[in-house]
Amino acid sequence: MFETEIIVIGAGAAGLMCAAAAGQRGRRVVVVDHVGQAGSKILISGGGRCNFTNLGVAPDRYLSANPHFVKSALKQFSQTDFIDMVRRHRIAFHERRWGKLFCDGSARAILDMLLDECAVGRVDIRLGHRVTGLSKSDRFRLDTDRGSFVAPRLVLATGGLSIPKMGATGFALDAARRFGLAVTETRPGLVPLRFGGDELAWLRALSGISLEAEISLGKRRFREALLFTHRGLSGPAILQISNYWRSGQAISVNLLPDDDAIAVLAERKASRPKAELKTILSELLPARLAHGLVDSHLPNPTMANLSKGQLAQAAALLNGWTLVPTGSEGYGIAEVTLGGIDTDELSSKTLEAKKVPGLHVVGEAVDVTGWLGGYNFQWAWSSGWCAGQAV
Ligand code: FAD
Repeated sequence: MFETEIIVIGAGAAGLMCAAAAGQRGRRVVVVDHVGQAGSKILISGGGRCNFTNLGVAPDRYLSANPHFVKSALKQFSQTDFIDMVRRHRIAFHERRWGKLFCDGSARAILDMLLDECAVGRVDIRLGHRVTGLSKSDRFRLDTDRGSFVAPRLVLATGGLSIPKMGATGFALDAARRFGLAVTETRPGLVPLRFGGDELAWLRALSGISLEAEISLGKRRFREALLFTHRGLSGPAILQISNYWRSGQAISVNLLPDDDAIAVLAERKASRPKAELKTILSELLPARLAHGLVDSHLPNPTMANLSKGQLAQAAALLNGWTLVPTGSEGYGIAEVTLGGIDTDELSSKTLEAKKVPGLHVVGEAVDVTGWLGGYNFQWAWSSGWCAGQAV
């Protein structure tokens, strides 16, 4: 039996940050993870360069049943605090569009930084430990296939359900339920959308095409790259809208977000009367997409013969093409999990469960999900750091 002050389950982004913060306050911390590699999602994140935070981090970039919940943690440990840490460790980084910060080199630098911070706090990291039991009497007891641990404080940091192949499990959600905490409905987030029937048949023919587009759903609008795949639509614009999409809803794709398509087509009708619609659209969009759109949705007269109705139809497709996804690609490739442990159960300052003193939950396991762009790691850093100060 190994006695300690704090057990953190999950050596991911939030767990390592929490452990480092607590260890550096002089607390004795053990981190237990069932896989043999700490921070495996950090290593593959951001295409291997880790989009570790965003300059525009703000509460409205997060989805949660309680949109105010994130405020305290994001304020206590902000993107600036994380950037300061990255600078202290002399990790070179750069800004990309929409305030996204990425390492210049490998994402491993971020993991190494967290492991260094843990080492400063003398954190004991135990990898490859399969959890076999968790209980609470006067203290928490964690049983694993390689021994048992007891402590007065326990941090659930096992993340969400996304990418089981990398070690994701529903452990935190199940444990929370067993401790009597409510869990909100979960679903895959930041995930490609699938289509069926005739729509899929012709989308598939466009597989590989990428362009900038604006995707909208209700009031939400994201302008980023759109990618056609053999199963439907992907790319950052689709991943962003997927967080808001619910089964049965239509999404709208603006393929010419800078232009009023009616005005553009009317101008071409006057200036290029002999050109076919397909030719004109090929000048505005990737040629394969233009051909695909005309073949599946539009007639192909010369611009001179394009009727008012046909022009309006083509323009509507360019500025507001409506599509109804049949589903998402699921947890297998979703970057995050929407929903999770109900924020009503937790203190927003310390991430401690109101009903179970000594139990904290951090990171993706909580019902907090960020947009694409470094927001999810920032939540992991902020929530982890706050719990690390409180435990
Ligand atoms: P995780 O980092 O998932 O850590 C959970 C840990 O718990 C893991 O080490 C896991 O092995 C362990 N664990 C799980 N179950 C058990 C169990 N039963 N017993 C013991 N241990 C267990 N976000 C960004 O902000 N920027 C990005 O660039 C970015 N890129 C991403 C790319 C991909 C491909 C994916 C999948 C996600 C990406 N994300 C990104 C999201 C980000 O990785 C997560 O939001 C973040 O890792 C959540 O941190 P966490 O500590 O809560 O969970």
